[in-house]
Amino acid sequence: MKIYPKLILDALATVRYPGTGKNIVEAEMVEDNIRIEKNKVSFSLIFEKPTDPFIKSVVKAAETAILTYVGEEVDIKGNILVKTLKAARPHIDKLLPQVKNVIAISSGKGGVGKSTVTANLAVALAKLGNKVGLLDADLFGPSMPKMFQIEDVRPFTVQKEGRDLIAPIEKYGVKVLSIGFFVNQDQATLWRGGMASNALKQLIGDTDWGDLDYLLIDLPPGTSDIHLTIVQTLALTGAVVVSTPQEVALADARKGINMFTNDKVNVPILGLVENMAWFTPAELPENKYYLFGNGGAKRLAESMNVPLLGQIPIVQGICDGGDNGTPVALDENTITGLSFMNLAEKMIKQVDYRNKNLDPTHRVEMHKQ
Ligand code: ADP
Repeated sequence: MKIYPKLILDALATVRYPGTGKNIVEAEMVEDNIRIEKNKVSFSLIFEKPTDPFIKSVVKAAETAILTYVGEEVDIKGNILVKTLKAARPHIDKLLPQVKNVIAISSGKGGVGKSTVTANLAVALAKLGNKVGLLDADLFGPSMPKMFQIEDVRPFTVQKEGRDLIAPIEKYGVKVLSIGFFVNQDQATLWRGGMASNALKQLIGDTDWGDLDYLLIDLPPGTSDIHLTIVQTLALTGAVVVSTPQEVALADARKGINMFTNDKVNVPILGLVENMAWFTPAELPENKYYLFGNGGAKRLAESMNVPLLGQIPIVQGICDGGDNGTPVALDENTITGLSFMNLAEKMIKQVDYRNKNLDPTHRVEMHKQ
């Protein structure tokens, strides 16, 4: 007997998910990774939460459906892997009840332009009409005060419901708060991981963010205690990973993606951003020079099954905009401004998919069947 993925899907379409009454194929709970080796069949079922009370019975029903519909000789018992979109983090949702989406921006390496991308993404999201906050959690290199030209501004406190809260600084339509306001840079390296994480927790919870559509968090490069704190303190909607095209940077970006997607952390990756993707000289606007290699981020995105959200070229204006505190995204009539607007729009789409608990990559693949 020859077993085809289509046969398995037909069998699975007879199983209903009691939570919605839809069949599990229609509900896009069957991941597009059905593996068939002789009579052994394995695949993953995707549930929203690890605490879903229907997991065991749905897995059992899926096994039975395959044995009934495809044949008794199919080796399926114990081969269905359960994946969940959200980790069980019950206590953390309450910390920022007025924030709809919390998004971490991370990179494997320093200097790849993570902060530049974050600042411009925040401005672009605000220009698209969203309420946006930005927390600069890059303890060892906080750059938001400079990028938003608010280095000399000091955040003040406000009274809300009997509590003293920190008021973030509003610039270009973005509410900005930086750990740099609180730590003297010369002493930053003296802050040990635990101290830094505690300070950060305080900052997140004691700030008057108000209602926000998006709170972006500029994380330090690599993996650290700070990443753990963020993941454990906030119910992240997802993470955006920034990389440059060099193989060494991409290898670290891969580690960064794995940090978020491992079973314990379980934060969805909204996508990869390739920064410094190519260089175009002002006098030869049609030319693209791939200084650091071409196509690396696309290949990484494909191999890790994450979307490539955007490619940002090397342009002097981007660097100047960062240095003088006027992000290029402020002017969408420029090519660079437009590339950040496109990036913001793509990210919003990914967030919307996530919030509907649909993984677009699964979706696209499923429809090919
Ligand atoms: P990270 O946050 O990853 O350490 P930064 O955002 O601070 O990196 O960027 C490092 C340097 O590179 C900054 O001087 C920044 O202005 C510059 N830079 C970043 N992206 C670009 C780009 N696309 N074009 C030109 N310069 C850039």
